[in-house]
Amino acid sequence: MRPTGKLHLGHFTGALESWVEQQNMLDEHGARVYETCFLIADYHSLTTSLDTSDIYAHTLDMLVDWLAAGIDPQKSPLFRQSQVKEHAELFLLFSMLITSSRLERNPTLKEQVRDLNMDSLMYGHLGYPVLQAADILLYKGNVVPVGEDQIPHVEITREIARKFNNHYLHPVLGEVFAEPEPKITKFSRLVGLDGKAKMSKSLGNTILLADGPEEVMKKMRTAVTDTEKIRKNDPGHPEVCTVFSYHKKFATQEQLESIEVDCRAGSLGCVDCKKLCAGNISRELAPLIEKRRYYEANMDLVKEILLEGEMKAKVIACQTMQEVRAAMKLGETTCGNHH
Ligand code: SF4
Repeated sequence: MRPTGKLHLGHFTGALESWVEQQNMLDEHGARVYETCFLIADYHSLTTSLDTSDIYAHTLDMLVDWLAAGIDPQKSPLFRQSQVKEHAELFLLFSMLITSSRLERNPTLKEQVRDLNMDSLMYGHLGYPVLQAADILLYKGNVVPVGEDQIPHVEITREIARKFNNHYLHPVLGEVFAEPEPKITKFSRLVGLDGKAKMSKSLGNTILLADGPEEVMKKMRTAVTDTEKIRKNDPGHPEVCTVFSYHKKFATQEQLESIEVDCRAGSLGCVDCKKLCAGNISRELAPLIEKRRYYEANMDLVKEILLEGEMKAKVIACQTMQEVRAAMKLGETTCGNHH
């Protein structure tokens, strides 16, 4: 995840919630199903903005949200891309394994160019999925939790892993990289309060994980509903309503059914419906806000967690690069001494 500062509900339902679930998933013997690593992609931020003045503050803010949501640093190393130099090194090697025309065909890139009205593209931005391939394969990731829009990037990672393995074999291990599989998150997107396709800080249509009940209610009042339901007793169409899309995520099954019936019948007004929705969201956020308060009062601990995560990540990254260099027959290495 890029360090964008405080996270919003869309980050929670689209990523964080399933990260925590995967982190804590146990098999029938009580052993963890996945070893999880969580990367703060601070170098990736440079592809769309060169202003780095807030990156560290945003990193810490985001980290507090991760911890509050249940990412456990004992189970999952949390680390910054910029602090583990092997990301840049593997990125360089991987950039020799893919053509620029392949990267230009990347549909996610085409979308970004259109959305951001870019008339030209930085070399590093074109190579974004190559850096992402390094991020994944440095830790021998075999499952990547992603939203649907990121699937083409995982495909590029698979192609790069294949290409590397075709060219270079480790004398003992054989193939260095396994081809990772994308794991689509269950509930990938939450529409913005304004009804736009997704919650986004730049669009100002978000509810933050740090928002208390009053703030949630205040924002909920601005949420776009069915524009044909003007008076309380007008029958509504929940399928076009932003608030109803939140109910699908945060209301109980029983509530959901009666909201749908009452909205259609015109016996539920949008004001009451929004109150119910805000209440459910705040109930979900209450434990996160409490944990957030604890970490905010102990920022030294948060910084320590980050540095410890980076120590762990460096050990794995260094090991992988030794294997890469051995497969490429680059000779003796001093890797391991420079950290
Ligand atoms: S009653 Fe609820 S679901 Fe129906 S339009 Fe209003 S806010 Fe949406």
